[in-house]
Amino acid sequence: MWTNKKYLYNKINEFNKKNPGFICSPLPKFCESKGINLIAYNESNSHLINISKDGFSFLEDSEYSIFYNVNQQKPRQRFTIAHELGHIFLNHHNFLSPRLLRFGKNGLWEEQANIFARNILIPADWEDYASTLSNYDAAFIFGVSQQMLSVRKKTFGEDKYWMDVCNDGRQCC
Ligand SMILES: [Zn+2]
Repeated sequence: MWTNKKYLYNKINEFNKKNPGFICSPLPKFCESKGINLIAYNESNSHLINISKDGFSFLEDSEYSIFYNVNQQKPRQRFTIAHELGHIFLNHHNFLSPRLLRFGKNGLWEEQANIFARNILIPADWEDYASTLSNYDAAFIFGVSQQMLSVRKKTFGEDKYWMDVCNDGRQCC
């Protein structure tokens, strides 16, 4: 069932196992390798800005496209793209009509995409390494904002808990 934690954390585990180099790979290259169109836009395109100031994704003819605002800060762009990848790898578009997802809308989907994003940008098993670094260095290395990093540090425990529960095959939802 797509709404439960087991579905979410199983998808995260699967993604991280299949894409071990993700945290070091430039996102345009990663998207290209997955056949996902990654398209930059800015304020000059009011139609796209009206859809979202950050980014959005959609599915059309079995092809995914992620649009992102290239004028946002780089760490924010990276989070937006990872968030949209979350929607894609969690198959959210298949539950929607029209098949378009905007950053910041749609309740549970958003929460799931945010959890997915933080777990692919800084996987939970990188906690020990991240804790040896200053926030400034860790944010730089992982390509995230310091704000995202401090939120991330508070969620390692929760993510490890759910991954352990799912790995045990216990009932988790
Ligand atoms: Zn979203």
